[in-house]
Amino acid sequence: MKEEKASSRTEIGTLGEFGLIERITSQHQTIHHSTIAGVGDDAAVLDNGDRYQLISTDLLLEGIHFDLMYHPLKHLGYKAVVVNLSDICAMNGKPTHITVSIGLSNRFSIEAVEEIYEGIYAACRQYDVDLIGGDTTSSRQGLVISVTAIGEVEKEEVVYRSGAKDGDLVCITGDLGAAYLGLQLLEREKQLYLDNPEIQPDLEEQSYVVGRQLKPEARTDIIDLFRKSNFRPTAMIDISDGLASEIFHICQASNCGVLLEEAMVPLRDESQLLALKFQLDPITTALSGGEDYELLFTAPITDLELLKRMPGIYIIGEIKNAAFGKKLLTTGGNHHDLKAQGWAHFEK
Ligand code: ADP
Ligand code: MG
Repeated sequence: MKEEKASSRTEIGTLGEFGLIERITSQHQTIHHSTIAGVGDDAAVLDNGDRYQLISTDLLLEGIHFDLMYHPLKHLGYKAVVVNLSDICAMNGKPTHITVSIGLSNRFSIEAVEEIYEGIYAACRQYDVDLIGGDTTSSRQGLVISVTAIGEVEKEEVVYRSGAKDGDLVCITGDLGAAYLGLQLLEREKQLYLDNPEIQPDLEEQSYVVGRQLKPEARTDIIDLFRKSNFRPTAMIDISDGLASEIFHICQASNCGVLLEEAMVPLRDESQLLALKFQLDPITTALSGGEDYELLFTAPITDLELLKRMPGIYIIGEIKNAAFGKKLLTTGGNHHDLKAQGWAHFEK
């Protein structure tokens, strides 16, 4: 049996990240009544009493998710927490606890680890969450940080990726593309520095995009706003991989199509200008960039007036039936098929 397995080898790249997750999880049957939702959304949903408990985990690897040449350790600790809290928000919940596990090579000093934890504790204070445990191990190479976030939500308030309906509005909570552009800028400065260490990077003017990359925030404020406004989205996801990839997840889970309008997708002026400098189409940085950690959600058309009154909510399109497909109406008036080109960890 062993030999048989060894003789058939399939490259991970043939499935891609999401195909691989589907492959390794689709056969698993959950057995506990408390498991309301397992794999397939931003967080798992457990029924442990009055409220649902939400659990989400992410793994950050040096050289894949961050580069310590430009990622300050304190910011890295903060970001590692935030990206997980964002997944709790995506279920319409509020984070309460985290665990943090780290793998350290001997390149790291105690002071360096303390700096990472300064950032982790800053995030704990900012978002009112308790650090309740974790694991510490050595690593042959590079830094590994894994955070698990736990949160809660009233049972009737939980929002999945799967609730979008034909005719729903597609909304977003802030501007896109900046985090990706910040990364491009930091990569360029790194190259310039490596070519000539005398050159000091000048990122002052681009502090917005750099900040979006190095110090993202989780939109717990939006979850509070929804509660206060008596509003519940029909479907929701956070934008970690880019708008196109995330709307694909909603469409797949909800069995629907979508029409997004390029002109409605919010991009800051500085992002547009910087995109053009990098010879990128600005809309591409929003569709395929990622790491903006805004929330993408859908809402019934009957909530239009309510949504218009909510500060910082942008309506960017409409849910269609599955047969319509997934399309972008460009500023030039053409319909383009959307491509779910998110962050490709495993290149096809
Ligand atoms: P997100 O981008 O919101 O963090 P992911 O795309 O990482 O979500 O994961 C999608 C879903 O697949 C989640 O429900 C996650 O828990 C699950 N998942 C990812 N990797 C694995 C794995 N190796 N084993 C089991 N479940 C996984
Ligand atoms: Mg997510």
